[in-house]
Order: sequence, then structure tokens, then C-alpha cells
Amino acid sequence: MGETSALKTAKTAKTEKTAVVLYTGDLRLHDHPPLRSALASCDRVVPLFVRDRAVERSGFAAPNRLAFLADCLADLDAGLRERGGRLVLRSGDVVDEVCALARETDADEVHLAAGVSGYAQSRERRLREALRAQGCALHAHDGVITAVAPGAVLPRGSGSDHFAVFTPYLRRWSALPPREALAAPRAVRVPESIGSEEPPRRSAVTGTSPGLAPGGEAEARRLLTRWLRSGVARYEDTHDDLAADATSRLSPHLHFGTLSPVEAVQRARAAGGPGAEAFVRQLCWRDFHHQVLAARPAAAAEDYRPRHDRWRTGSAAEEEVQAWKDGRTGYPVVDAAMRQLRHEGWMHNRGRLLTACFLTKTLYVDWRTGARHFLDLLVDGDVANNQLNWQWVAGTGTDTRPNRVLNPVRQAFRYDPRGRYVHRWVPELAGLPAPRVHEPWRLPAEERARYDYPDPVVDLSDAQARFHEARQ
Ligand code: FAD
Repeated sequence: MGETSALKTAKTAKTEKTAVVLYTGDLRLHDHPPLRSALASCDRVVPLFVRDRAVERSGFAAPNRLAFLADCLADLDAGLRERGGRLVLRSGDVVDEVCALARETDADEVHLAAGVSGYAQSRERRLREALRAQGCALHAHDGVITAVAPGAVLPRGSGSDHFAVFTPYLRRWSALPPREALAAPRAVRVPESIGSEEPPRRSAVTGTSPGLAPGGEAEARRLLTRWLRSGVARYEDTHDDLAADATSRLSPHLHFGTLSPVEAVQRARAAGGPGAEAFVRQLCWRDFHHQVLAARPAAAAEDYRPRHDRWRTGSAAEEEVQAWKDGRTGYPVVDAAMRQLRHEGWMHNRGRLLTACFLTKTLYVDWRTGARHFLDLLVDGDVANNQLNWQWVAGTGTDTRPNRVLNPVRQAFRYDPRGRYVHRWVPELAGLPAPRVHEPWRLPAEERARYDYPDPVVDLSDAQARFHEARQ
């Protein structure tokens, strides 16, 4: 008898069934199909999180996200303990660890949320094969990481495996009957003798942003409730106002899965109104980028639509990139946004758009350089949303107007008309009222000298001409 059939024979003699639930980007108890499904088919469930060495080696485990993750794991463990269970923590190669735990607990099934990135897809393939060899089934659940699973809606008649344009995707996505969000389970029975490593502590992570938000499912639910009660109604009118800071700030929770996108869509639709509609549209953007990445995992590093750019390199470009990272380009609205990123590990969407455009089209520097810097700092740093938004802005992605350039001064006049955002993040210009604060280089020399603030790193019309010439 082969090893697999021997294991199967031993399992039929068991009286209790066990499942392992592998947590990845879905660190919650509410609306969690893998957990609910494991509880429905098995008597005992082992909720597992693996600190994946491959992810840590890849440089993806930046301090802000590690600190936020520590909060999420502590909160998930607390939620499981309230239900009679606990979270089991391991570290190492994720496939080896899951297989070892499945053997240790004589598990019949492993459940996880289906992933989207190239890494998540290969992890799932490797797991399926390795578990099959030990007689254990893998169940990958769709619609956990996104509201609508990648591939659930496809362009009709084109034979394409994903939507490359947002508006038709939104139409089909919106027409899909929504899945009902699931309640959190009442009880989770975890086998007693399973060893677990010490959970990471937020306070042990060094190099984090001082204004980093707290993580965890309880915090996510509190934020969503407050947002739907007193924020979302104004969203349509104020989401682009940099100083108003009137967006949901739910992105880190959606990234770590402490908030279910299905539940966010469902509750926003129930709240109703134009603000909620505009908010749901943004959640659709999130799904849109995920379905692009699922179909084209290489777009994490390669142009989705190659434009054969000869991006600037060399010492002048490097100095300008450093000024951009430090928030010292001499363009106050760009600098304000870059400083917000460093201070909070988060940046307003309008700030992300205009700083990314400044790097790729004004400085004409490779989008990968900017995407890497964002991933080093963003608490919501996400392969699908970050890389594909960078590509969208750079004109190598899904934007149907790839050569549009956002002028940072016009952006500042429009989205920070009173200069409050610049005053908040660039305190050396706090005494200079709008609109003059957005163009300090126009001040008379004597007045200019009063402000310890750099000259622009580049002239905007020269930069614009350079970009258009390069893209011809
Ligand atoms: P809200 O305005 O309240 O929107 C609600 C949710 O919708 C967000 O939490 C987010 O999940 C989703 N969403 C909103 N806008 C977008 C968008 N353009 N694309 C995809 N999803 C969106 N978002 C990330 O979550 N992670 C990233 O790494 C990331 N990198 C970005 C890089 C660039 C260059 C740009 C232009 C955008 C990036 N975004 C990223 C998208 C967007 O800026 C953030 O999701 C948003 O600012 C988060 O703030 P919020 O939660 O208050 O958003």
C-alpha cells in the first residue's frame, strides 16, 4: 500500500475531522468563507498564520506593515480566544509549515483564501501538490480578498481573460448579484496540544512611521461603522480635497483583510446615497486592479503596455529622486504629500496621483523606482493596487489616456485651494498664504529668502516638453 492510501485508511478510522485554516491577507473572523467552511465540515479547526520567510526575504515586509500586522494578529488571536480557540503561529517556508501542521493534527482539509499575485498563485499550486501527496485536500475560496473574484466577470465575446478598461468592468461588476456577508462564528474548537510561536509585538518593530494607524479587525469594524455613519455622505464632494482628509482610510484594513470587501460593499450599498455609490466605485477599482494582476502577474514588475520608455538614470536623475523621496522638490504640494507618506505610512489618493505623475512624467523616472519607495512605506502597500496604479499613472498600464500629465501647480490650486494641506506638512511655508504658497519661487527675492525652502528641481515646461518628445 502506498503512503497516501495508508494515510487515507487511517483517516477513515478517525472519529473526528480536523481542518487547518491558513490565514494570509484575510485576518478576520467576520465574513470569512474559509473559516466558516472548515467549521461546517470539521469538528476541530486550527487557525494558522505563517510568517513566510520568502515574503520577508523579498523585502515586502516593510516596518509599517510589520507593525500593523502585529496588531492584526493580536486582535485575531483575541477574537478566536473569545470563541474558545486561538491563533497558531509558525514561521518558515509556508508550504512546509502547513504540511507539517496538517500531519501533526492529522488534518483532512486545509482552507485558504484564493490569492491574486504571482506569488500567491504559486503558493497555492505548491500547497495543493504537497498536501495531495499526504492525502489532504486543499480548498481555495474565492471572493475573500476581493468583493468579486478575478475572472468572475469577463469581457463578452473578446476571449480575453480580464478587463483592461475600468468602466465596462464597473458596469458588469455592479450588475453581479452580491454574496451575502457571513457572520463571525460563535465557537472555534482548536486541538489543545498544538504548539505556537510567540506573536510579534508592534512595539518591537523599529523604523515605523510616527503617525502609523493601529491595525486589527476590531479597529477596522469601528472605522467602517463610523465612516458609514458620518463620513461617506460627503465623500463624493470631498474625496479629492487634500486638506479635508475626508476619505475612509480603510485601505490598510482592506489590504490585511481585517475588513471584508464584500461586507464593505454590502454595508455601503445599504447606507445608500451618492457618497456611498462613489465609495463603492472605489472598491470596484480595487477589484479591477486585482483581476488585472491575477491574469497578468508579471505586471507587478513589467510594463502592462510597453511604451519603450528610456527612463532617465544617472546622477542628476538620482538627486531628483532623492529630493522627491525627501519631500524637497521645491513643489510644495508634491513635498507635502511625500512628507505625509513618511510620517503616516499612508498618503491621500490625490497626493498619490500627483506625486506618482511628478516622478514618472515630470522627472521622467521609471515607475518601478517610485512603486518601490511607496512599498517601503505604505501601510496599505499592495502589489495589485500599488504596482497597477503606478502603471496607470505612468501610462504603461490601463489608463486610456496614457500621455496625460498632471501639472502640480494646477493640482494644488484645485485640490488644496486654501493651502491648508501644504501648511500642515510643509511647516516652513506655514506663514505663506494661498495661492502664493503653491508657487514660492515667484516671490520677490527678498521675501523668498525668508523661507528655508528649496528651489524647484525642474522647470515644468521643460519637463513637459521632454516627456512628450520621449513618448512620440
Ligand atoms: P477611499 O477613498 O476611502 O476608498 C475606499 C477604498 O477603495 C480604499 O481603501 C481602497 O481599497 C479602494 N481604492 C480607492 N482608490 C483606489 C484605486 N485608485 N485603486 C485601487 N483601489 C482603490 N491603494 C492601496 O490599497 N494600496 C496601495 O499600495 C496603493 N498604492 C497606490 C499608488 C498610487 C501611485 C496610486 C495613484 C494609488 C494607490 N492606491 C493604493 C489607491 C488609493 O490611493 C488608496 O487605496 C486610497 O488612497 C486609500 O485611502 P482610503 O482608504 O481613504 O480610500
